[in-house]
Amino acid sequence: MRIDVLTLFPALIDAFAETSIVGRACAADLVSIVPTDIRDFTYDNHRSVDDKPFGGGPGMVMSCGPVFEAFEHVVGWNPSDSAGDAGECKLDAGSELIMLTPQGETFDQSLAKELAQRQRLILLCGHYEGFDERIRDGLSPREISIGDYVLTGGELAAMVLMDAVIRMLPGVLGNEMSADDESFSSGLLEYPQYTRPREFRGHSVPEVLLSGDHAKILEWRRAKSLERTKKRRPDLLKD
Ligand code: SAM
Repeated sequence: MRIDVLTLFPALIDAFAETSIVGRACAADLVSIVPTDIRDFTYDNHRSVDDKPFGGGPGMVMSCGPVFEAFEHVVGWNPSDSAGDAGECKLDAGSELIMLTPQGETFDQSLAKELAQRQRLILLCGHYEGFDERIRDGLSPREISIGDYVLTGGELAAMVLMDAVIRMLPGVLGNEMSADDESFSSGLLEYPQYTRPREFRGHSVPEVLLSGDHAKILEWRRAKSLERTKKRRPDLLKD
């Protein structure tokens, strides 16, 4: 999978792509993360990517020009080849353009699973008061939010999305099964986990986990998953 990130802060994305499990996945060519600096598509001395909102009001709005040109650059589309604009540049079936915005559909595990099937994602990170509406109109991105709160920029949201997607790619997690057991994959929260020592300050590991009886362990884990989900996230059990 290739993930392009259109951003004002490529260094944040570079650091993410070099670190931990994602860093190892990139080093092993299981995924390639390519940041593109939106400021590289500006033509004034200040490299301006934003301007005051028409109609007044606080803050600044991200301008169309640099965002359209950054997008056209990563997809290799030349607007002078066509009478239309980049909105007419159709991405192939395996690719998706995603705008990170608090106004989008809420990101969750099933959306991460869906996006993990793509060959290419192009992530568009906003700043300031967000995007000139014509970016939405012209590029028709899928709009995704990571939750009902407002961040200062889209990079953290892009990293959350990438992390959740990348760990689902084959070969990224050491044990192929480990993502299947986790919270939300089966619609439940994960069961409690324990590691050594067997006793810690008077608290011991449940006997069943030491029994070596795999059927019993499975049964215990399933019961604990259900119990925990019922208590903490009863909404998940509705489905
Ligand atoms: N004025 C916008 C609004 O009220 O909808 C919020 C803009 S926010 C300060 C700046 C940028 O951060 C957004 O364009 C988006 O890229 C990103 N962002 C903020 N919160 C986000 C969230 N919950 N999910 C995804 N992206 C978010």
